[in-house]
Amino acid sequence: RVRPLPRVIGADVPVPVRDGRHVPYANFDYAASAPCLEAVHEAVTRALPYYSSVHRGAGYASQVTTSAYEDAREAVRSFLGAWRRSAVVFTRNTTDAMNLLAHAVPAGTSVVVFESEHHASLLPWKRAVRLPAPATPAEALSAADRALRSCPIGSRLLVVTAASNVTGELWPIEELAHVAHRNGARIAVDAAQLVPHRPLDMTALGLDYVAFSGHKLYAPFGAGVLAGRADWLRAAEPYLKGGGASASVGETTRWAPSAEQRHEAGSPNVLGALALAAACETLSPAWDDLAAREEELVERLRSGLAALPRVRELTLWGERAPRVGIVSFTVDGWNARDVALTLSEEHGIGVRDGKFCAHPFVRHLLGEDRSAVRASIGIGTDEEHIDRLLTALAALTAR
Ligand code: PMP
Repeated sequence: RVRPLPRVIGADVPVPVRDGRHVPYANFDYAASAPCLEAVHEAVTRALPYYSSVHRGAGYASQVTTSAYEDAREAVRSFLGAWRRSAVVFTRNTTDAMNLLAHAVPAGTSVVVFESEHHASLLPWKRAVRLPAPATPAEALSAADRALRSCPIGSRLLVVTAASNVTGELWPIEELAHVAHRNGARIAVDAAQLVPHRPLDMTALGLDYVAFSGHKLYAPFGAGVLAGRADWLRAAEPYLKGGGASASVGETTRWAPSAEQRHEAGSPNVLGALALAAACETLSPAWDDLAAREEELVERLRSGLAALPRVRELTLWGERAPRVGIVSFTVDGWNARDVALTLSEEHGIGVRDGKFCAHPFVRHLLGEDRSAVRASIGIGTDEEHIDRLLTALAALTAR
């Protein structure tokens, strides 16, 4: 029996174009925020009648909501293959998760990060050694090794993306985890652009921390995750101070011992967590089919782009480097903003243009002050969308 693929809401929603017509939206901006899965909508709808307080209420609806919230945590744990005793902390998004980790690292920790990171992973650290974007994956390993080896005695942390939000290229995170551990360091992986496309098993890969965002994983905005080793998180001051983070308050305050309670002060985003967990549970059984489908579509997109003489794809490691469904490009003679606006206004195609919150990386790839167009795909993308984008770009480059 062929299992139906998960479906998103609004994959072909009508949008206006310049001549007053409406056309089905061709969404090529999944890497920024993905549309919501139908299964996520259903899970939230099922939860709403029991919408109630978590953790402190004694009423039946509170108990249902509390256990749904804690079940959501377990669903995320299993989606990430996180160790039973790891912390799974709900945050607002990846940015919040990385900032929580930066807050929790022990004083004096040496942090090593590549300049090619998204700003969310590049900027939160008080002090970090920044490595230039490596010319090859092997160079990523040797540069990380050298940098970690020369860190002063004390805790060490390597921060790296699993898949680039600019080029879609996959980073060798398993090998980088070996390099980190060989040097007595931990590794934190920004999985924001990996988990919407591929499964990730933290335990098998040896990852100490993983961060991602619900809104890129076919769930609504406002919920993300930091998962990983509990010790630094349990020892740190609460990220936010208030109810929930405190175990007892008198002359002095005793903070909650668990990493989750300590760093989830205040009423949590329960529906966000449930939605995110529903997305995890929907994607997990479908990975093989989803990945195969995405490969076909990415191939169609990239070979179509390669046939357009004025279009140049951005790549760090060459056009054959493995990647997820994210392709950025420039168009000779056009600035990226005009390409993006023309695609939207004339063809109902939504792409992103700019430097994608990765300024040092885009500068490395394109030179000073240049922007690119990014087309990213996902579960609602089909052949018609891709062909429409290619036809529109062919018309635009012929002008
Ligand atoms: N890391 C990567 C690789 C990203 O692509 C993004 C989102 N563009 C982020 C981090 C930040 O995610 P958020 O905006 O959800 O915090």
